[in-house]
Amino acid sequence: MMQHLSELARCNLCEWRCGVNRLEGERGVCRAEMPQVAYTMLSETLASYLVTMLGCNFRCIHCNAYRISQYPDAQWFYRDYVGPAVLADEVISRMTPDTDKINFTGGELTIHLPYIEEVVQAI
Ligand code: SF4
Repeated sequence: MMQHLSELARCNLCEWRCGVNRLEGERGVCRAEMPQVAYTMLSETLASYLVTMLGCNFRCIHCNAYRISQYPDAQWFYRDYVGPAVLADEVISRMTPDTDKINFTGGELTIHLPYIEEVVQAI
């Protein structure tokens, strides 16, 4: 099993410590299974490549990214799982000389930390 997925088989990535198998369709408080990408974009304003992840382990009443953070319950369509090496290649190929950083955002990112670490390592 790929390194970034192994911790999902008994997920204790955040303090909810649900212990569910996110690889077999079980969902904990965050409702996330595999790490899924909502979308990516290059922001010249921020000089950054943005990677927005789906799901969150919080339920903030005034969330300004409801469809993303409360996925899949929000029943919206997004990009899906993207392998770390594929996403790393994409980021590298689309960054410009003026882009000096990558921003991961979404809901709360702890729920995808092994995946993010692998993407960053690949880059
Ligand atoms: S990341 Fe999700 S499934 Fe894992 S412990 Fe936190 S809320 Fe539960």
